[in-house]
Amino acid sequence: MALKSFDEYVSLAEQAHGHICAGQILGLRLAVHGLGLLGLDDPLGVHRKRLITFVEIDRCATDAITVVTGCRMGKRALKFRDFGKAAATFCDLEAGRNVRVAARESAKRRAAELFPEIENRNRQQMAAYRVMADEELFTHQWVRVRVEEHDLPGYKGPRAVCSECGEGVSFAREVSRGGVILCRSCAGERYYEVCG
Ligand SMILES: [Zn+2]
Ligand SMILES: [Zn+2]
Repeated sequence: MALKSFDEYVSLAEQAHGHICAGQILGLRLAVHGLGLLGLDDPLGVHRKRLITFVEIDRCATDAITVVTGCRMGKRALKFRDFGKAAATFCDLEAGRNVRVAARESAKRRAAELFPEIENRNRQQMAAYRVMADEELFTHQWVRVRVEEHDLPGYKGPRAVCSECGEGVSFAREVSRGGVILCRSCAGERYYEVCG
């Protein structure tokens, strides 16, 4: 059993995120619950290479999920889907089992019921999210996730070069327009405009 104690996670999360907050507590609980459902108790050790996590929000909870799972963007084991939801899907690549855990919308209200004497909302939720049962905090569903080979950690593949801008493109992210190889920016998905 290599999962750390909750207090250890809290101090690691505080270091990683710069402060401790309700979102972090929720994210830690969410990740511990997800790994528990998968039966993966050593995400930083023997189970390191079989876990991928999809997060659905880029907020405090996301950093906490990284602390527990060890899944990082730079390792290609953390995938961001910008849905604005306090939810994450934990994928056990080896067992082919995936579980999506979502925070219940009622969790904040329940926190207020449990700790009415704490006026500060963040502190109130921090206290509550530590003690509430998993079932009070989360819903979960077993899901199928299609993870493409080129999205896996450690994927080695040919690198394309955009015929418009000349920049290199990894991981099969290039697009072909009538036989012409383009990067996604040049193909029209650019998120920026060049100044001047
Ligand atoms: Zn925070
Ligand atoms: Zn290009």
